[in-house]
Amino acid sequence: MIVSEIFKSIQGESTYAGLPCVFIRLAGCNLKCSWCDTPYARVPDGALELTVEEIAVKARGFHCALVEITGGEPLQQRDTKRLITDLLNEGFRVLIETNGSISLEGLDPRLVKIVDVKCPSSGHGGSFLMDNLNFITPDDEVKFVIGDRNDYEYARRFLEECVMARTSKVLFAPVRPALEPRELAGWILKDCLPVRLQLQIHGYIWPNERGR
Ligand code: SF4
Repeated sequence: MIVSEIFKSIQGESTYAGLPCVFIRLAGCNLKCSWCDTPYARVPDGALELTVEEIAVKARGFHCALVEITGGEPLQQRDTKRLITDLLNEGFRVLIETNGSISLEGLDPRLVKIVDVKCPSSGHGGSFLMDNLNFITPDDEVKFVIGDRNDYEYARRFLEECVMARTSKVLFAPVRPALEPRELAGWILKDCLPVRLQLQIHGYIWPNERGR
């Protein structure tokens, strides 16, 4: 597998925010979001080539029960499904963060999926594969990264029409610095939306540090 980096940090996003977590960041992505915060993971330059077994050994070495597979876009790689199942069989709780444009079909049912729905300002509004709604369970989380009011309206509509029937774990995160958290917070409060405002904790602890 092509791996950008493996490291232990504080989980900065999702309902698991605040917990120690091992991140397996796979290299390569099929999208090019305007505000991408891991552009180095989009291209395989400087990435490592490791087997599923070698990745599992590295993950075990951190002595941490929570693992997130992320990217780039982790579902682009053929062996990702096997990596997920191997880690689950070893007793890890496994999360995956995926951009929503690649099929979720056939993933291990024990996996917790954090699925992005790209909003228009990313440049990839409409990239979400609608069939993926069939594979989102109440344990999974749906994330919208919001850059402006237009994104907010898009996310609110999508939430009401497509997501609420699948899961109540919905994350709204502002694009920094384009949108101030207090502005997004004000919109959520005004509409009383049942979503979790999400700020990247690791960004506050270790601003702009890679591998954190
Ligand atoms: S999907 Fe993720 S890794 Fe890919 S370009 Fe968008 S933000 Fe970056």
